[in-house]
Amino acid sequence: MIIKPKVRGFICTNAHPQGCAVNVQEQIAFTKAKGPVANAPKKVLVLGCSTGFGLSSRITAAFGGGADTLGVCFEKEPTESKTATAGYYNTSAFHDAAKAEGLYAHTINGDAFSDALKEQVITELKNSIGKVDLVIYSLASPRRTDPKTGEVYNSVLKPIGKQYISKNLNTDTLKIADVTIEPASDEEIANTVKVMGGEDWEMWIDALKGADLLADNFQTVAYTYLGDKLTWPIYGKATIGKAKEDLDRAAKALSNKHGGNARVAVLKAVVTQASSAIPVMPLYLAILFKVMKEQGTHEGCIEQIQRLFKECLYSATPRLDDANRYRVDELELAPSVQTKVEEIWDQVTEENLFELTDFAGYKAEFLRLFGFGLNGVDYDAETTPLVQTNF
Ligand code: NAD
Repeated sequence: MIIKPKVRGFICTNAHPQGCAVNVQEQIAFTKAKGPVANAPKKVLVLGCSTGFGLSSRITAAFGGGADTLGVCFEKEPTESKTATAGYYNTSAFHDAAKAEGLYAHTINGDAFSDALKEQVITELKNSIGKVDLVIYSLASPRRTDPKTGEVYNSVLKPIGKQYISKNLNTDTLKIADVTIEPASDEEIANTVKVMGGEDWEMWIDALKGADLLADNFQTVAYTYLGDKLTWPIYGKATIGKAKEDLDRAAKALSNKHGGNARVAVLKAVVTQASSAIPVMPLYLAILFKVMKEQGTHEGCIEQIQRLFKECLYSATPRLDDANRYRVDELELAPSVQTKVEEIWDQVTEENLFELTDFAGYKAEFLRLFGFGLNGVDYDAETTPLVQTNF
């Protein structure tokens, strides 16, 4: 088939196998060009390893640190007539590259929230690389089935306390109009914490500790976003922000229980499948890209994770905030960036969208997530969606 992007709202429903592979290879090349990560971990478990920050974490661990990696993701396999999800192709390309360098790489595709999958990971670790020295928690999911009760919880992206009215860009029609989002109920807040809070992270670390699969000096890190005034009503101080606060609680609980080092890492806003689904975020990102590119400080997932490893996780002088979190979002939050973003936010209209913002750059990065727009890929060529299963 000829594979062209099929975009529906904030999601692209197909993916290009070769394009995804080039995307992974480019991240590997970036990592190698940056040179090795000193004191890097050698055995790494990445939960949410197939796209976004988790994929970049796996690439940094493997190709910046020479680590053996076990990954967990939730991706759809291809059929003769339908492409796989991007994360499936990314993982396949990662495996090819890791194997070529003689690194152990194994991926388990299934529901990370379930007890069964945790057991599978424990069995695989026991049979392969043994104790891990780093566990990355990078899951982003709209729902979670509680493994103990079977109840399904859905997260919501809503403000807390009062209605939120904001400028919003429809990324299909390119119309900018006010969007009104009603505040979440107490139950919706609690459900969002259940899905995206720290409970599952704790279950993972407890299970690994119980199976004696954590190295003495292990680290574990879960990712969060804090942002600033423009995004607080829908993120930082909204339902998802409450869930992220729960990660801070979990980090303390884990360090107290198991020793090692459990921390939250605050990352910048980037285009991923998860962030493009958040109202207001695409317009904020298009403006942020414009400003940060002009100031020469633009970063994507791989640049952020490279700095997280070198400047925080494996640095003798990590950048920590007063809540003990690693920070790599300092360039986004620089007053010179935020003031400019706020100025543009007030001025942006449908007419000046491409002039005042980098929506073109946002859109290109969005399509790259699904393997479209990569150099050297012939998008007019007949392409099979099937790739050799190597994980
Ligand atoms: P993403 O959508 O690109 O990746 C999510 C990953 O989770 C994928 O590998 C997916 O397969 C996996 N996954 C989802 N549900 C799963 C399940 N049930 N079982 C197993 N795997 C599952 O998301 P992302 O944007 O990279 O987000 C990762 C983390 O980083 C999240 O905690 C997010 O809040 C945080 N973060 C994101 C941003 C941003 O701007 N995107 C900024 C800061 C922090």
